[in-house]
Amino acid sequence: MKLYISADIEGIAGITNWNEASPEHADYAQFRKLMTEEVVAACEGAKAAGATDIWVKDAHNTGRNLLLEDLPDYVTLIRSWSGSPASMLQDLDESFDAVAMIGWHARAGAEQNPLAHTLSLKVEQIRINGTPVSEFGVFSRLAEHYGVPTVFLSGDAGVCAEVKNYNPAITTVSVGKGRGPSTISLTPQAARKQIREGIEKALRGDLRACCIALPKNFTVEVAYNTPTDAYKFSWYPGAQHSGERTIKFEAPDFFEACRFLQFVT
Ligand SMILES: [Zn+2]
Repeated sequence: MKLYISADIEGIAGITNWNEASPEHADYAQFRKLMTEEVVAACEGAKAAGATDIWVKDAHNTGRNLLLEDLPDYVTLIRSWSGSPASMLQDLDESFDAVAMIGWHARAGAEQNPLAHTLSLKVEQIRINGTPVSEFGVFSRLAEHYGVPTVFLSGDAGVCAEVKNYNPAITTVSVGKGRGPSTISLTPQAARKQIREGIEKALRGDLRACCIALPKNFTVEVAYNTPTDAYKFSWYPGAQHSGERTIKFEAPDFFEACRFLQFVT
């Protein structure tokens, strides 16, 4: 079994403040270690379920967060950003059996995580065919474009609720939730245990049940925090400047939706 794990940091257990997610701050060293340990727990659970080929994409900020020497020897690691529209799922293709997401988070504007955002801090909201989505909403659809189901996600309560609403067959582990600028969360030890057990159970289950048929066309809207960004990015070929702070793009397939998002966020 070939598995793709994409790892972010704003949805790992206990993370609460941007200083903990940013290499410029002293707090970051502890949280990159905790992020690494959640990924290691996911790898262990996946291996126990029979995954033999596990790719890990370091998908936060610089793409250079995970502590290499702590990762198991059976992992293939993708670091930094290639510029491909596949972004957080760079180099995913039809050869993979499943995608898992570790440390993912609620969408921009959601109250369930003080670090909630979607793709960039410029974005107020991204909508696909009218529905507000998180990064899970974007990249799970891209995975489905390649016929690969997203079978497991760990992160905050907000993104877990979005996952369950999207497809209840996908296994989620909620490690915490926001309360204003504070958080209420599991300990890292408890989160790792639930992630290890959750991903193992998910991979032993019916992977195809985690798929959803994609619609034929996608209307992708990006609302920005400022009208100046909407004007600037409305110059993407085919984009419409549909409102004071909003642009809109009709994508013939989801890879084209991701190409658009790559250039306008
Ligand atoms: Zn991130």
